Amino acid sequence: MTLAVPREPVPETRVALVPEVVRALTRGGTRVLVERGAGARATFSDAQYAEAGAELVDAVDLDAVDVVAHVSPLPAAALGRLREGALTIGMIGPPEPDRVAAALGRRITALGFERLPRTSRAQAMDALSSQAFVAGYRCVLEAAVRLPRFFPLAMTAAGTVPPARVVVLGVGVAGLQAIATARRLGAVVQANDIRPDSAEEVRSVGATFIDVGVDRREASGGYARDLREDDAARQRAALAPHIAAADVLITTAGVPGRPAPRLVTTDMVAAMRPGSVVVDMAAATGGNVEGSRPGEDVLVPCADGFGAVTVVGLDSPAGALAADASSMYAQNVKALLGLLVRDGEIAVDLDDDILDGVVVTHDGVDRVAHRAQPPR
Ligand code: NAD
Repeated sequence: MTLAVPREPVPETRVALVPEVVRALTRGGTRVLVERGAGARATFSDAQYAEAGAELVDAVDLDAVDVVAHVSPLPAAALGRLREGALTIGMIGPPEPDRVAAALGRRITALGFERLPRTSRAQAMDALSSQAFVAGYRCVLEAAVRLPRFFPLAMTAAGTVPPARVVVLGVGVAGLQAIATARRLGAVVQANDIRPDSAEEVRSVGATFIDVGVDRREASGGYARDLREDDAARQRAALAPHIAAADVLITTAGVPGRPAPRLVTTDMVAAMRPGSVVVDMAAATGGNVEGSRPGEDVLVPCADGFGAVTVVGLDSPAGALAADASSMYAQNVKALLGLLVRDGEIAVDLDDDILDGVVVTHDGVDRVAHRAQPPR
């Protein structure tokens, strides 16, 4: 079996396989082709890949490989150049018609991490979770370096400084890691989510749960659903005083398949103290915070006329920690490959619940669109 690792397009900094995982694969008999410079932005050199048993190439001949491991969704042009029946593993992105057509035309088996079932058995393959874990950590660091105050309580000869107050909204994988990171830095943390289990999860990592008294609801698989507008208004009203009193607000709320829910208005941000920092991890998927812009810091003037609050719109928080994010992603790719390869050959068993979920196109069938068809 021949597996290729392409250079990712800018601005992606991560790489799908790291040398450690390449070594395990080549020892198992897989031929691994790595495009020169593929790991450079994630700190992995061509020499490390070569030492791990990879063959370095200027450009992969896509028609000559069985598997492509990638991070960013592959463009239609690349899919159209793959060998008929080849397999791709990575982020699939939204179903753009030209990419779907190219994958179907070449009978590609395209796997999209976004569609992996969130089950215990799938945990080792869960790239959304591994990257959210990295992102949650990074959000807090982004806030800490911008905040003109300490995170921890500081008792010094020059006086006592109180700890920073941090509010985290959305307590999935990223939010829990944001809470844990803020706690490690010594902040006092409060958090809110709408899933019924979240209050206990928040307490288990040492934060206080903000109960907003809305009808918390859950869809299948442990995911949240959109709130009704009256519940959303009640949530905003209940959160407003906690946000106004916070030094840092971190938002990580998401609803699968939908734009990020808007949880915080500009008025709520403007009520914070001068110098406060808001980090919107969902800026690139619609934004939890009104006015946040991906990749930018936006200054919101404070309501009382003095100073401003910095609203940080993160673009690719996991990409900012490209080395570790890539290492974790590569382990996820390797685990998923382990489910697909039998005796050195690829065998796609769609009766396996993980593969049934994660395989997006197979043998000329768009399985996502197919599943969406009403039964006849
Ligand atoms: P996500 O990125 O889809 O969303 C982040 C969080 O935002 C979720 O906790 C969600 O409930 C919350 N949210 C959505 N709308 C909100 C609103 N209006 N107000 C406040 N919060 C809101 O979530 P995720 O990190 O992918 O995790 C979702 C769930 O899946 C969690 O229960 C998590 O524990 C679970 N999970 C399970 C596994 C597994 O068992 N293998 C793996 C990963 C995640």
